Amino acid sequence: MSIIVNNITKVYGAQKALNNVSFEIKSGEIVGLLGPNGAGKSTMMKIITCFIPPTSGEASVCGYDIYEDSKNLRKKVGYLPENNPLYHDMYVREYLEFISGVHKMNKRTRDIIGDMIQTTALSAEQNKKIGALSKGYRQRIGLAQALIHDPDVLILDEPTSGLDPNQLVEMRNLIKEIGKEKTVMLSTHIMQEVEAVCDRAIIINKGEIVADDSTSKLITATANVEIIKVEFSTPVDEIQLKSINGVLEVSKIDENIWDIKSVSDKDIRPDIFQFAVSNNYTVLSMSKVEQSLEDIFRQLTQDNLKI
Ligand code: ADP
Ligand code: MG
Repeated sequence: MSIIVNNITKVYGAQKALNNVSFEIKSGEIVGLLGPNGAGKSTMMKIITCFIPPTSGEASVCGYDIYEDSKNLRKKVGYLPENNPLYHDMYVREYLEFISGVHKMNKRTRDIIGDMIQTTALSAEQNKKIGALSKGYRQRIGLAQALIHDPDVLILDEPTSGLDPNQLVEMRNLIKEIGKEKTVMLSTHIMQEVEAVCDRAIIINKGEIVADDSTSKLITATANVEIIKVEFSTPVDEIQLKSINGVLEVSKIDENIWDIKSVSDKDIRPDIFQFAVSNNYTVLSMSKVEQSLEDIFRQLTQDNLKI
C-alpha cells in the first residue's frame, strides 16, 4: 500500500474538519479526492504530507508513519499545496535549484532540473521570472517542484484550479502521464476531472467519506436509480405516465419527450411499450440515460446518502 489512512479525525477549535476517515491507496493508483469546498480535502492532504498532525487516528505513506517517520515519509512524497505558493521574484530555474537545495540534492542537480523542465514542458519559459508567467505555467512549476526529488507518491491539491480550458487539458494530460509511474492523489471539486484522470474516486462531504469506488463503478451504481428517455409522437398525460408499473418520477424534457425514473433493478421498458400500445401512443425512441459522476456526486453530497 502506498497510503494508509486509519480513522483520522481532525478538529479545529469547535469544528470537526475530518471525522473518522479511513482509506487505502495502492501503489500506482490515480485517486481523486472529490468534495465541495470545506469538505476536508486540503486538511486530509496536509495530514498525509505531515504539514499538520491529526487530532486522532493513524496514517502512513510507503510504510512510513506520520508520527514516527515524518522525515522519511516526506522524502517519498511530492506535494503541490492548494494555491501553489511560489516566490514570484525568482526565475524558474533559480526556484527549482532552490527547491533541490531544500531536498539536499547535490549530485546531478542540473540534469534533474533539466529533466523536470522538459517533463513539465517549461522549456520556453525557463528563463523568466515566475511572477511574469501565466497561471498554467505556474502550476507546472508547482508540479515540477513536487516531482524534483523523484517521490513515489504525489499529492496534488486542486492542481487545475484557475486554469483556462486549454491549460486544464494540458495539466490533466501531464498528471495522467506522470501517473503511469507514480501513485497520485489529487483533490478537486470538478467531477469531470475525476472522470478524465482518475481510476478511483473517494467522495468526501463534511469531513466524511460518502463513496469510495472505481470511477466506472461509481458511474454505473448511480444510487439505484435508472432514467429512460422516451419520445412519443404526440403529447402524453403526465398522470398516466406516472401510473406505469415501477415508475418513481417523470419529468418533461421537451414537448413530447420525457425522462422516466425507476429503480434500477427493474427494466421498465416493456411496461412503457405496453402502456403506449394500450393507450394508442406511438413511441418514436427510447434510451437509457447515462448518469454522470456529477449526478452521483450531487446526490451523495446533497443528501448525504451512502452507497
Ligand atoms: P476543502 O479543502 O475540502 O475545501 P478544508 O480541508 O480546507 O476543505 O477545510 C475543511 C473545514 O475545516 C472547513 O470548514 C474549513 O473552514 C476548516 N478549516 C480548515 N483549516 C482550518 C484552520 N486552520 N483553522 C480552522 N478551521 C479550518
Ligand atoms: Mg482545499
